[in-house]
Amino acid sequence: MPIHVQPAILAFPDARRVVEEQAATLRPGRTELTALLRSRGRVLAEDIPADRDFPPFPRAARDGYAVRSADLAALPAALKIIGEVRAGGSLAGPLARGEAAEIMTGAPVPEGADAVVMVEYTTRQDASVTVERAAGPGENVAPTGSEARAGQLLLPRGTRMGFAEIAVAAGVGKAQVSVYSSPRVGILSTGDEIVDVEAHPGPSQIRNSNSYSLSAQVEAAGAEPVRLPIAADDPVVLRHLIEEGLALDLLLLTGGVSMGKYDLVEPVLAEFGAEFFFTGAQIQPGRPVLFGRARREPGVQTATYFFGLPGNPVSTMVTFEIFVRPILDALCGASPRKLRFLQARLGTEIRTKTGLTRFLPARLSGEFERTEVELVRWQGSGDTAAMARADCFLVVPPDRERLAAGEMVSVLLR
Ligand code: AMP
Ligand code: MG
Repeated sequence: MPIHVQPAILAFPDARRVVEEQAATLRPGRTELTALLRSRGRVLAEDIPADRDFPPFPRAARDGYAVRSADLAALPAALKIIGEVRAGGSLAGPLARGEAAEIMTGAPVPEGADAVVMVEYTTRQDASVTVERAAGPGENVAPTGSEARAGQLLLPRGTRMGFAEIAVAAGVGKAQVSVYSSPRVGILSTGDEIVDVEAHPGPSQIRNSNSYSLSAQVEAAGAEPVRLPIAADDPVVLRHLIEEGLALDLLLLTGGVSMGKYDLVEPVLAEFGAEFFFTGAQIQPGRPVLFGRARREPGVQTATYFFGLPGNPVSTMVTFEIFVRPILDALCGASPRKLRFLQARLGTEIRTKTGLTRFLPARLSGEFERTEVELVRWQGSGDTAAMARADCFLVVPPDRERLAAGEMVSVLLR
């Protein structure tokens, strides 16, 4: 006898909030040391402070002459050149009144000087320079510690490492960083018609693309995909593979979540005593999406979160982006990233029905204030090629049946 789950179909913002609330309860697992260059996309498990002042000396921001700004009260001002400071070098002895030092970008501004005059505003003659423009105190000088003081926290634990973060870590001498171990994410595609990519599909068979798109999405989120074998629409097979998947940190299933006779994911999960947070969302594509948690066996301490994503490939991709990411972020040790919307001008009018929040494959064009968005032509949520032509999702709010050409609309970046 299949166990029936009380359906809970939530509006998009409510479903999203439920995911975020659950994500907030999650903690990352183990930590490991990794070479800095391998840390991209990973999440810091240590605080990284400044190991010294940044910059460590008053740094020239321009090529030109280090001067005492007070010497430039009357222009043009002729100053005596007492030496040269190159990046990595220094000048012995302080600069006295009426003196200047030739200086390069990145070099330490000598004692006594308080400004750098750009070389463009000077004329040199042997050991003398004539300055044509005034420079105020501090001009073109980054004072010691102005970017950070020694000991100041630069990258807190929980930071996701991107190129800028890697630059900061390199700047403080971290050749290795401590990161959270990547959560292992089970990927289980279901369907009697689904065959492996290497297989020769029969006339009514479909190659498994979802396990591949999901693996790529999981990796892009900094986690480790574990592809399980394809599950037939058979409760015994499904039970077995779900049990395997629940041993991992998160389980993503695709297919078998609609109302068809062989859609068995929900009833089989219910046999595991699953708690369902929602069994659908008022969205398109992706309406029958499931979110919950279950224990592999009754005795197991912690429950594993799972998503039952609809089998249609575009639905699988969209529901991953809008629902799975916060849970993955949290399992990775990062504070979940908010959805990133952009406003763009709509190219061509859109007419739809009200009631669902739609995330439609679309393409951006133009730059700066002329960014425009256009739906890509698609044949529905099975159309992966349309999705590959798209680079964003155009969001249609549930109360709108018409979006006019020229109107500013929300775009979800991917
Ligand atoms: P389902 O959600 O099981 O009803 O599947 C909906 C549609 O998605 C069907 O046309 C399936 O053939 C297709 N589909 C399901 N799983 C996959 C998969 N892993 N790869 C590609 N297409 C799939
Ligand atoms: Mg199916």
